[in-house]
Amino acid sequence: MVLLVSDFRPDSCVVAEVKASPNHGERKGDAKPDMVVLHYTGMRDSKLALEHLCSPLSEVSAHYVVMEDGHIVQCVPESRRAWHAGASSWAGETDVNSRSIGIEIANPGHDYGYPDFPRRQIAATIALCRSIFTRHRIPADRVVAHSDIAPSRKKDPGEKFPWRLLHDSGIGLWVKPIPVTAAGGRIFVLGDADPEVQTLQTSLRHLGYGIETTGSYDSETMAVVAAFQRHHRPAKVDGIADVSTVATLGALLTAREPRVNGASPSGTSTKGAPIAATLVKGAA
Ligand SMILES: [Zn+2]
Repeated sequence: MVLLVSDFRPDSCVVAEVKASPNHGERKGDAKPDMVVLHYTGMRDSKLALEHLCSPLSEVSAHYVVMEDGHIVQCVPESRRAWHAGASSWAGETDVNSRSIGIEIANPGHDYGYPDFPRRQIAATIALCRSIFTRHRIPADRVVAHSDIAPSRKKDPGEKFPWRLLHDSGIGLWVKPIPVTAAGGRIFVLGDADPEVQTLQTSLRHLGYGIETTGSYDSETMAVVAAFQRHHRPAKVDGIADVSTVATLGALLTAREPRVNGASPSGTSTKGAPIAATLVKGAA
């Protein structure tokens, strides 16, 4: 058998296997990775998903694939730009591939029954992220879902992904979601136009979402709110900005601030938290 792609040394000792993908390039401008993007494979068969990521025809890849049993496969060296994010945006960066490490978590996804993520698979994902953190400085608010950076196109890894468990291990930004009230307490729905919608859009943008501040609760805003809910308020993913969603967003922005500038919460960019808090008060 002819070996088409030469193997490489894995970047981490948690890697069980190297299966080289040809689908990668240079990181633009010698960018150092400072983001981690989590995906699910979204195919019925995870072995076929791995083959797809390594096929030159697919033109997609990820640095790592975490199989259901916790087996970690590395497909692209961390130094290279893997092709996992597609058209996307986070914190003003639209070439997310150049700035990130992509991890595919084997799961058939929403189209094929969307099973729970096994504990062993999550434990392996946590070990992998912690190992990445030893080599790269990844701020907590830059560990994101594919759905966070491409809300109109993507749902992965989805609302079943246990972000809380990652956070408990020091990975990612997370706060306990403010409970969904019985009445819902909806603030904005599709079609609303209001200066306060702009305020909400500003808060979402402040967190990192690539959202325009139009003041109109359009389908793009709904997609971003749904992406926010999938990650941070998974009990109800409907794209409606209710009290629980807006309050959770406010709590998250508040939780993030001390980390931005070390110990001091009085950094330059504290606007988002009070904005979201104002919205919630207005709705009470
Ligand atoms: Zn994805």
